[in-house]
Amino acid sequence: MKQYNFNAGPSILPREVIENTAKQILDFNGIGLSLVEISHRAKYFQPVVDEAEALMKELLQIPDGYKTIFLGGGASLEFCMIPYNFLIKKAAYLNTGVWAKKAMKEATLFGDVVEVASSAEDNYTYIPKGWKCPEDVDYLHITTNNTIYGTEIREDFTLPVRMIADMSSDFLSRPVDVSKYDAIYAGAQKNLSMAGVTVVIVKEDALGKAPREIPTMLDYRTHTKNGSMFNTPPVVPLYCALENLRWIKSQGGVEEMSKRAEQRAEIVYGEIDRNKLFRGTVTCAEDRSLMNICFVMKDEYKELEQEFLDFAIKERGMVGIKGHRSVGGFRASCYNAQTIEGVNALVACMKEFESKH
Ligand SMILES: *Cc1c(COP(=O)(O)O)cnc(C)c1O
Repeated sequence: MKQYNFNAGPSILPREVIENTAKQILDFNGIGLSLVEISHRAKYFQPVVDEAEALMKELLQIPDGYKTIFLGGGASLEFCMIPYNFLIKKAAYLNTGVWAKKAMKEATLFGDVVEVASSAEDNYTYIPKGWKCPEDVDYLHITTNNTIYGTEIREDFTLPVRMIADMSSDFLSRPVDVSKYDAIYAGAQKNLSMAGVTVVIVKEDALGKAPREIPTMLDYRTHTKNGSMFNTPPVVPLYCALENLRWIKSQGGVEEMSKRAEQRAEIVYGEIDRNKLFRGTVTCAEDRSLMNICFVMKDEYKELEQEFLDFAIKERGMVGIKGHRSVGGFRASCYNAQTIEGVNALVACMKEFESKH
């Protein structure tokens, strides 16, 4: 049976990205050695970092004055590196989910933290609106896509303060106005690469202002000044990211990724709203994530939840569609590599299940 990958993360990557990465693990660029057994300082590896940086700049039209760096530690390490490097006195956070909250918690170790708004009381089913950000904060931190709850901020706010964004789960799924941000970061395993590398895009002249000593490895300047080569970078995840960046470019860039995301989401949300058995957990259309599509059984069909999971996963190959435990129901993750064929198969499966009930 064909398997369709709806995993939330680690998650789907284009087949050719995985195949090309596997080939380089066996024999790197025909040199007779594996990518995993050469020095990261060997002349063969530097071009990987250089090309990944250049493609990032090209695809996201990153302005001059920014550096793209590749780190270890996941997005979770950035939760503390961001305030370590950027929080001078006070920072603002928009609380749109568990990841946003974890980021905010780390910031409290470094200064005053203002929660500008929160949708926690409604289990994060919407993006708060109508809030005001104090103008005297060092930055406003947002989480553009809330992986667990299926909400997304698909625009770059215009605010009188600088922004910092966790874009882990919608990175490279749309064009972004990088100039509005002091930093953008993303763990790779949702939409960029395999787990193990984190991308950070930082505005260089925003660094070095925080009034504290920063341990070397946690100081962004260590990495911006050394081209991500201060210590050994995660070479395989980084190589895999390069392959994916090449793939995105070959497909037409982030504009094309955004168009495809809209097409997929229209198909899946269309079916959720039409099907008598299901309802979307995010009701405000503009807040609905194009990346993680969350839905549940309508109350009157609640007892069918397990039966649908068994049918979809075991009989129709819908891998990873069980919702996060804090939301329940189902989640269809539709990252860049998700195909129209995949979402059509999911819709067919939902229709078939409906006709049985
Ligand atoms: C998965 C995720 C994280 C955590 O990423 P790690 O790389 O596992 O630390 C942070 N933020 C968001 C939005 C995520 O989806």
